[in-house]
Amino acid sequence: MPSYAPDVALVVVDVQNDFADPAGGLYVEGGEQVVDAVNAEIGAATAAGSFVVYTQDSHPPQTPHFAAQGGVWPVHCVAGTWGAELHPRLRVEGPVVRKGIDGSDGYSGFSVRDPVSGEREATSLASQLSTRGIKRLVVVGLAGDVCVKETALDGMRLGYEVEVPLTTTAMVAGPDVVGPVSEELREAGATVT
Ligand SMILES: [Zn+2]
Repeated sequence: MPSYAPDVALVVVDVQNDFADPAGGLYVEGGEQVVDAVNAEIGAATAAGSFVVYTQDSHPPQTPHFAAQGGVWPVHCVAGTWGAELHPRLRVEGPVVRKGIDGSDGYSGFSVRDPVSGEREATSLASQLSTRGIKRLVVVGLAGDVCVKETALDGMRLGYEVEVPLTTTAMVAGPDVVGPVSEELREAGATVT
């Protein structure tokens, strides 16, 4: 398990019904098992005085992020629906940062991107980390090859040391991409455990 301290933040990415429940709109195989592993990290992090922060994918019913409107994903995490809610077993011990609200693509917890213009805008995550003097991030949740990876890469771009424990994530493209995703993260400077 990663080591936690007051200058470490645990970033819990998108542990929501649509990703973590087999009945979800964009179910990530193994997602329900990730909930317990993530809860164990949350327990360790809070015991060590680490900041725990959550991201939540949150979309309007129609958005260019979805396949029906020209995007790549099936409908998922529509604001106000069961699928968008954090998984009922997830321990919530800190603030939630929503992404994708206005129809933007929200892969990284740090920024959202207008799928039409490509323009990027920061979420509140970076400022929440910097006001607390955070130096290191542990990034967990779903999906490992999409939002966890993008959040980890952005974290490194912003100067944080980043660790991604593989037992706390699952890949939307399946177990075959664990190797390539780990490689990409390591090449960018992350510790993948
Ligand atoms: Zn989304």
